[in-house]
Amino acid sequence: MAPSQAVRCCQRGLSWIPVIFINLVVCWSYYAYVVELCIYTITNTEEQVFYLIVFHLCFFMFVWSYWKTIISKPATPSKEFCLPKAEKELYEKEERPEAQQEILKRVARDLPVYTRTGSGAIRYCDRCQLIKPDRCHHCSTCDKCVLKMDHHCPWVNNCVGFSNYKFFVLFLAYSMLYCVYISATVLQYFIKFWTNHLPDTHAKFHVLFLFFVAAMFFISILSLFTYHLWLVGKNRTTIEAFRAPVFRNGPDKNGFTLGFRKNITQVFGDQRLSCCLPIYSSLGDGYTFPTRLVSVDSEQGNVEHQAIKWTLEWHQDYFSSLKDTLVLRPHVKDPIALRYKALRLAALSPLSEKDLQCVAVEDLFNLHSYPHRPLFAPNIDWTQRLFHQVLRHGD
Ligand SMILES: [Zn+2]
Ligand SMILES: [Zn+2]
Repeated sequence: MAPSQAVRCCQRGLSWIPVIFINLVVCWSYYAYVVELCIYTITNTEEQVFYLIVFHLCFFMFVWSYWKTIISKPATPSKEFCLPKAEKELYEKEERPEAQQEILKRVARDLPVYTRTGSGAIRYCDRCQLIKPDRCHHCSTCDKCVLKMDHHCPWVNNCVGFSNYKFFVLFLAYSMLYCVYISATVLQYFIKFWTNHLPDTHAKFHVLFLFFVAAMFFISILSLFTYHLWLVGKNRTTIEAFRAPVFRNGPDKNGFTLGFRKNITQVFGDQRLSCCLPIYSSLGDGYTFPTRLVSVDSEQGNVEHQAIKWTLEWHQDYFSSLKDTLVLRPHVKDPIALRYKALRLAALSPLSEKDLQCVAVEDLFNLHSYPHRPLFAPNIDWTQRLFHQVLRHGD
């Protein structure tokens, strides 16, 4: 074994220490609660049964979401994002950054890539040799690019990203619940300990520590959980919270914000039943993400809103024929909701790349500069193009 390989093996082994530590604490808490508290300390049978049932529910949900976060493989970009062989050779030979950018731009034209680096360049990972999809980042610990990367978490020894972000937030939620439940039920026995009302057995030390450990973990998870709830509400990743994603028209920290409810469905899915379970239900494919149009209260936002609304009214029949697939409601007043639906519509539309370039976003949306021009020709091609432009707005 080469020395570098041995070091890597060692690192990989050491990285499991936090996970082992958490699991040991959880196993001990299970023993202390079930055996020492419920069986040895509590004498009332009804109380024992009730405590044990609720405890096992919390315990099961917590362990399930924790292990799902650990074992979910981080989603990585597909081969389409790697440079084709010829372009790769050219890129490697080329020393001028501008020429390299030209190569990347040529390849990126066929990819759904809308975000850029701070200087406006195509985001390229030299390590993985691929064009980074939107919201994708390279994790130096995992040594790979991870889709919608949030952060690398040592407590789960895994990258938290598109494939397991929902599980991670649920893990935080259920670990809080687990700690709260333990602290709340142990509290009265904890007080009895201090007032010398507990029989002097070894159980009382377990009860004492159970309360301390649960309360300590609760306090330390609380801020992290609140922060991630805030991020989910904004549809932002931890990385994006520190550095705003850059679109064609500059950085926009709210670029992926679709409104509170839709932001939540992006992570938890739109099925009520599965949203609280660690079962995969996040929306999207990890490569393309709906983005907001423009600020809703800006003048242009209102004009876009109006344009889309009128177009929808003109082509109500067309849209109602797609209604079942798209769950499209022609009278939705929220342009961001429409933007999102346009994305889903675009997936079904047969328009080619050339068609898309025909209509400039500016021509469509700067309506306030020539309000009397009849731009709303009720023709279906135009409508489809409008939707495609809405989809590509920002590119
Ligand atoms: Zn990479
Ligand atoms: Zn990682």
